[in-house]
Amino acid sequence: MLIDYKGACHIHTDYSDGKISIPDVVTSAQDADLDFIILSDHNTLLPKQDGWEGWHDNLLVIIGVEASPRYSGHFLALNTQPLCGNGDVDLSRYEHMSSRDCLDDALDYGSTTYIVHPLGIRKKNFLLNLGGWHDWERNGFAGIEIWSYLHDWLEDLKISNFLHFCKNPNRHIKGPNPTLLSLWDRLGQQRKVVGISGLDAHLRKIPFAKKPLFTYTELFKTIRTHVLIDGELSTSDEAISTICQAHKEGRCYISFDLLEDATGFTFVANTAKRTYCMGQEFFTSGEEVHYHTSTPYPATIKLRKDGKLCAEREGSTLEFSSREKGVFRIEAYINNKPWIFSNPIYVR
Ligand SMILES: [Zn+2]
Ligand SMILES: [Zn+2]
Repeated sequence: MLIDYKGACHIHTDYSDGKISIPDVVTSAQDADLDFIILSDHNTLLPKQDGWEGWHDNLLVIIGVEASPRYSGHFLALNTQPLCGNGDVDLSRYEHMSSRDCLDDALDYGSTTYIVHPLGIRKKNFLLNLGGWHDWERNGFAGIEIWSYLHDWLEDLKISNFLHFCKNPNRHIKGPNPTLLSLWDRLGQQRKVVGISGLDAHLRKIPFAKKPLFTYTELFKTIRTHVLIDGELSTSDEAISTICQAHKEGRCYISFDLLEDATGFTFVANTAKRTYCMGQEFFTSGEEVHYHTSTPYPATIKLRKDGKLCAEREGSTLEFSSREKGVFRIEAYINNKPWIFSNPIYVR
């Protein structure tokens, strides 16, 4: 039986530009009842060398890195043991390299890579200018960050609504950007591309404000990635590779758990012979495939094939049968608010 472990990805600490120490991040994640966190400081694996990776009571800490070239797109690299094994924890050279060269470098070391905030962001009034990812023909990355808390929040931010956005940040979270979802759907038709979530948490303070914009405990209750694992997690090294492998395979889904904890969400495809779960890819010659979805709370459940809506239902289950090939994935909404985004099942 698959066990659902929930975690938060793309988190910065004071090893780079986050304003929080790792022990404080750990306490915040434990307070938010997370099973794992993936830390990804900019261009450094020093936290890994310093021994922060592994179990901290019931919380598993995984250390990756955010490759952050100054003028082009960023990506997250996991399974970075070889970089660390070579003593190569200082990746500041990435700052002055192109995204393509950084990606080649990380792949040479055997890392699993995920493009983060792929659309980038430009906000002159807030002095924000972060390049997006353009090199989509370059294969090798395992997935993309389809929903980032920070970037969702920043998208519609203006000087005129700034105070409003700061007062109640969660109210302005809209869900994955539609352009990004169509890109993901398009890429998925060519090959498996995993969707992961990110917080891009930094704990930045606004000048003169009493408390930081988003505390980590608050953020950790919002957008999470749930991974499905066959059995209990064990020792640190095994648990880390099990979680990273499930991510890489796309055996995971994303949810905004502040609405309702999505633990227990299911999306499977049944053929006469076997059952396939999220992230799996199989070949058919036109036999019937039955899709089954269930959510732990009633919602508007939408089944999409190659991005297009093919079934929709209000409730806690959705059943659908088809003989067609395509990339099938689920979205669920509670009162029109985005809640769950599954990884696809690929029927080729
Ligand atoms: Zn970044
Ligand atoms: Zn980041």
